[in-house]
Amino acid sequence: MSNMLQTPAKTDVAGKTVLVRVDFNVPLTTQDTGEVSVADDRRIVAALETMQFLRDAGAKTVLMSHLGRPQGVDHALSLAPIATYINTKHGVPVQFVGSDRVVDQQVTTTIEQLENGDIALLENTRFRQCEKKNNPEFSRDLAGLADIYINDAFSSSHRAHASTVGVAELLPSFAGFSLHKEVTMLTQLLEKPKRPFVIVLGGAKISDKVGAISHLAHSADIVLVGGAVANDFLKADGIEIHKSYIEATPADLQKEGVDYVQVARQLLDEHRSEKMLKDGYIPLPKILYPLDVIAAQNSEVASESDLEVVDLTHDMADTENDKDLQYLDIGPKTQRLFSELVAHAGTVFWNGPMGVWEQPLFSTGTQKLATTMAQCSHSIVGGGDTIAAIDHFELAHSFEYVSLAGGATLEFLSGKTLPGVGALSHN
Ligand code: ADP
Ligand code: MG
Repeated sequence: MSNMLQTPAKTDVAGKTVLVRVDFNVPLTTQDTGEVSVADDRRIVAALETMQFLRDAGAKTVLMSHLGRPQGVDHALSLAPIATYINTKHGVPVQFVGSDRVVDQQVTTTIEQLENGDIALLENTRFRQCEKKNNPEFSRDLAGLADIYINDAFSSSHRAHASTVGVAELLPSFAGFSLHKEVTMLTQLLEKPKRPFVIVLGGAKISDKVGAISHLAHSADIVLVGGAVANDFLKADGIEIHKSYIEATPADLQKEGVDYVQVARQLLDEHRSEKMLKDGYIPLPKILYPLDVIAAQNSEVASESDLEVVDLTHDMADTENDKDLQYLDIGPKTQRLFSELVAHAGTVFWNGPMGVWEQPLFSTGTQKLATTMAQCSHSIVGGGDTIAAIDHFELAHSFEYVSLAGGATLEFLSGKTLPGVGALSHN
């Protein structure tokens, strides 16, 4: 599908007014001086290519984005500081055209007066609550500003909102360069990953990852499971996990008979007969969970002496103390085995830390695996906490691709067409 998405040519946009959906939903911090700064500006950096292209092509650019979750107008979530930030930090002149209604007569007049090459930024689209309802009137207001629409916000494209879907249906549309790159990368992962294709799954939340993993597991050569998600798989195979964390199944899903341990069991059963040959002779199951774990009474323990390595391949005589144990990182044997498999991967897709990496005592598994993955030429990483971990270990630059979209990436990888991508013109 990716090669069918159209990016604009200069001739498509020269002299035109182009409305661009970007994702400037970035973490903001306010300094003592009152100056607002951006804690992680990757999403802004990702949008610069399309912005520069439109500027060079002599288009009049109108950027729009949401920021946070305002319930109506909330000036603390205004996009004004973002325009200032882009001007000062990236040297790209962006004129903020703010209105609590996002689009009104004043805004329309200002946009009409833009010169070729100018860039304007509208106010937070969610100041209009009907944005999230994909309201036709709001879509018409937005579309009325421009000749052409570009979606460069892959990370917002799993939502069918006015700014991602409504306007795309009203104007000739194109994919922005950042969106195109992300779709191409993820399509490659789905359709022709370089083999062996290794998936590394971890973190605390199985809920948001299960769709993607179920879909990807079919094409993967091996799925390595760590973090708290591994506890679901261990439990599914009848292995004692004591007080280890597993995400509770939400009540509405429970009513439908969904239970995450059950989901893990189904995945294991579905792939039980498939084996991966290691070193040409040792058959390993396709879905591998930890052989050993680093455990403690809780994640706030202070020293190495509070840790216990639990070998899960042997039946253990439980002591009284064991009943409160929490599994908080993958153990040394597992770290070695997982690293070795990752080292031979053609492609790695990683989502979810291997342990409570925020605590140095439980960070080894995540750091070790991240270091090995960073050496793989096709390594793709996603997930807010996973990206925070590779930033912490200063490895982000070594990954081939750091996906800026959490939910959108996982939905795409579960095989769905994202509404905001599906709404764009394809050729
Ligand atoms: P992401 O944001 O990358 O998708 P999640 O939000 O699912 O990842 O999970 C991240 C969190 O999981 C981390 O903050 C980490 O502390 C926690 N975690 C990882 N392993 C364990 C574990 N064994 N027990 C409890 N929490 C864990
Ligand atoms: Mg998270």
